Amino acid sequence: MSLLDSIAEQIRGCTRCPLAEGRMQAVPGVGPADAEIMLIGEAPGAEEDAQGEPFVGKAGQVLTVLLRNAGLERSDVYITNICKCRPPQNRDPNPDEVRACREYLDGQIACIRPTLICTLGRWAAQTLLDDPDLSVMKANGTVIEHRGLTVVPLIHPAAGLHNQNMQDPIKEGFRKLGELLQERREGGA
Ligand code: URA
Repeated sequence: MSLLDSIAEQIRGCTRCPLAEGRMQAVPGVGPADAEIMLIGEAPGAEEDAQGEPFVGKAGQVLTVLLRNAGLERSDVYITNICKCRPPQNRDPNPDEVRACREYLDGQIACIRPTLICTLGRWAAQTLLDDPDLSVMKANGTVIEHRGLTVVPLIHPAAGLHNQNMQDPIKEGFRKLGELLQERREGGA
């Protein structure tokens, strides 16, 4: 069994925080073990909890379209979340829950060694970049180097489901991502 698979196995059986009690399934992540690009969302919702896969609900459908517009297929990228279990009523995970899951995320990043990480939403960006004051609206689609990682924060695709005004900024972030990927391809990176 690969180290990445063994992390997934540990996540499926994890009881490190109280979210374990309310979940149907933990959601370790999905995608190629050698993916160049890793997407990190916040936490599973109801559909993800039921299926054991990240971004398979409404936000996931939007994500698939946004990725395609940026020149990526879902199968090209490794997708996971900061928190591997669904918080009750989809509330934000609390700091203890994020801390309990952090070792899994760091292990996944160390195994996959992506050349680019896209965070989805404020929570994921602030956690990965260790910056509780980061504004995802300002950072959307920019490149931030942090602790040896190249990170592009993006607004969460679900934000546009609740607020029409967010749709343009969401698309703009993914447009910038598409441009960056194109530049990297042309540069042979
Ligand atoms: N939102 C997330 O942040 N992650 C999922 O897996 C689904 C919705």
